[in-house]
Amino acid sequence: MPTIFVSHGAPTLVTDRGRTPDFLRALSQALPRPSAILCVSAHWETEQPMLTSSPAPPTIHDFFGFPQELYTLHYAAPGDPALALRAQTLLTAAGLHASLHPQRGLDHGAWVPLLLAFPQADIPVVQLSVQPQRDAAHHFALGRALRPLRDAGVLILASGGATHNLREFRGQAINTAPPDYVLAFDAWLTAAITRGDAAELLDYPAHAPHALRNHPTPEHFLPLLVALGAADSAVGRALHEGFNYGILSMAAYAWDN
Ligand code: ZN
Repeated sequence: MPTIFVSHGAPTLVTDRGRTPDFLRALSQALPRPSAILCVSAHWETEQPMLTSSPAPPTIHDFFGFPQELYTLHYAAPGDPALALRAQTLLTAAGLHASLHPQRGLDHGAWVPLLLAFPQADIPVVQLSVQPQRDAAHHFALGRALRPLRDAGVLILASGGATHNLREFRGQAINTAPPDYVLAFDAWLTAAITRGDAAELLDYPAHAPHALRNHPTPEHFLPLLVALGAADSAVGRALHEGFNYGILSMAAYAWDN
């Protein structure tokens, strides 16, 4: 089972027309059917890793001021308490303290891409949190510890943003051309992934052009390190490229081995 990183953009992605929702709708056709999905989302931030362990995780509408239609959408996939426990055990064995959250549901970083990619919601989902106060190496280690889950057919799906600077969103249109600082980071990211340069990705603040401007806070980039860590080889491939609102690269990547 490959590991995948997707950029989820704005919550309205789920009702938008465009190349990125079309890409996500077609994504599952290129994959073996997962036995379960472990989704690490930028929108669950905790001090220590946490995993959803509810057998029926609710849909969290963790956004404000968006069209009413978005608040009526639900992603009713079952949870997988046994998978959550196995993931916790793997993390613990790797020296990473992790805990289970029996009530927490799926935030929009998880359910927006899942609703597009797996609309039947019949594959169990466990969500993993990110730790923005921890570095890239920590998130790589999370993925590395969870790698054995792939042998059981679990899809490790990381959801964040290849670039994500909402401070520079000033109401521009979704099809606004990206500025140079976004293009430069996006090009660096694709190049580093396709040549498998894990060292550069792990030290991205030092190597990526305009790293801090594209990620003033790291939570939308850190899921990518989990997907990278869960891969056998750092050499990945670009699945999708595009930009929304000028500031959001919608890039997606896969690591196949
Ligand atoms: Zn987001």
